[in-house]
Amino acid sequence: MFNAQCSMYNRADFPILTQTVYGKPLVYLDNAATTQKPRQVIEAMTEEYYTVNANVHRGVHRLSQLATDLHEQSRETVRQFLGARSTREIIFTRGTTESINLVASCYGELLQEGDEVILSEMEHHSNIVPWQLLEKRRGIRLRVIPITDEGQLQLDAYEQLFTPRTRLVSVTHVSNVLGTVNPVRRLIDIAHAHDVPVLIDAAQSVPHIPVDVQALDCEFLAFSGHKVYGPTGIGVLYGKEAWLDRLPPYQGGGEMIGHVSFEGTTFNELPFKYEAGTPDFVGTTGLAAALRYVQQIGMEQIAAHEAQLTQYALEQLRTIPGMRIIGEAPERGSVISFLVGNIHPFDMGTLLDRLGIAVRTGHHCAQPLMQHLGIEGTLRASFALYNTTEEVDALVSAVKRVSQMF
Ligand SMILES: *Cc1c(COP(=O)(O)O)cnc(C)c1O
Repeated sequence: MFNAQCSMYNRADFPILTQTVYGKPLVYLDNAATTQKPRQVIEAMTEEYYTVNANVHRGVHRLSQLATDLHEQSRETVRQFLGARSTREIIFTRGTTESINLVASCYGELLQEGDEVILSEMEHHSNIVPWQLLEKRRGIRLRVIPITDEGQLQLDAYEQLFTPRTRLVSVTHVSNVLGTVNPVRRLIDIAHAHDVPVLIDAAQSVPHIPVDVQALDCEFLAFSGHKVYGPTGIGVLYGKEAWLDRLPPYQGGGEMIGHVSFEGTTFNELPFKYEAGTPDFVGTTGLAAALRYVQQIGMEQIAAHEAQLTQYALEQLRTIPGMRIIGEAPERGSVISFLVGNIHPFDMGTLLDRLGIAVRTGHHCAQPLMQHLGIEGTLRASFALYNTTEEVDALVSAVKRVSQMF
């Protein structure tokens, strides 16, 4: 039943998955931390280094023009993937973390003491700490949306957090711990009813479900290349043009300027205003190759395949004595956090590794959420397009085996 889905891609596209670890076939279930890269991505980047490499945007020579074309075509690929209106709205960054820091830093310039930013209890540290820095620097205040026992945002409480001082809502689309898919369109509508802009942390949604920024109508959206089968060190900030026009620049340097003199400097047009210095133009080629790869398979198909795997894994894991699934929201992505009995997640993760199963253990960069749940950490299995039913079976039998050892 599940394997029919697997014909949609060629597992041989991911050579890393053919390895054995400790003599066992590798079962890679740490996709929420980073995904493996298909040959198409690695080869596009290698090819660029072999044949095109030259700095972009300023060169009159042939290679520089080719490199610039590739880089700007990649921006167009991202625009189309996200459904953005214009490539002026696509800023390349190092990843989700830098994208959120960019907004915190630039929008922060416009905030006053006592202004408020709404976050949620299930945010990743990268959507908490940049705002806490602003708390220190600008005297802003953070308001936090509480979650239910199932791991859903409490919408009534959310509505009550708005005050005349609310300046931004910044929330995750999909929780990297609980797997919850938040009703972001509703959250955005509610924020807009209060004239408040919204930033969506899409690190865990862009790789797994269709995301369209115009349908969402968010002001900002951030994601990382390495979590969507692309290279590390490249990511995206989408921003509505009017907002990007309004905010001051981020870093200063080459590329982001119009004209520089010691009397004063003018800034480049969008999107370059936010991209100081030589960009990772090989990284953008890799990211575009990754987005083309998932588009060819189809985000709907990927979402359906991962939903089936997740459902199956939940059913099978629940048969294990002492199993506790952390996060029971009905709308969920392909992330499963769990604990078994009193076994420390680190101990179980270490033993699963000896059986070839790669899962993540710990607080998953969400310590405030752990505090709410009253636990130190979890084991987390997270699926990607290349995972199979057999791998879920391998996970389940390994968890059974390990839990019998305690
Ligand atoms: C991974 C992750 C981030 C941070 O992404 P980086 O690639 O480390 O910048 C932020 N939010 C969520 C929900 C994540 O899963």
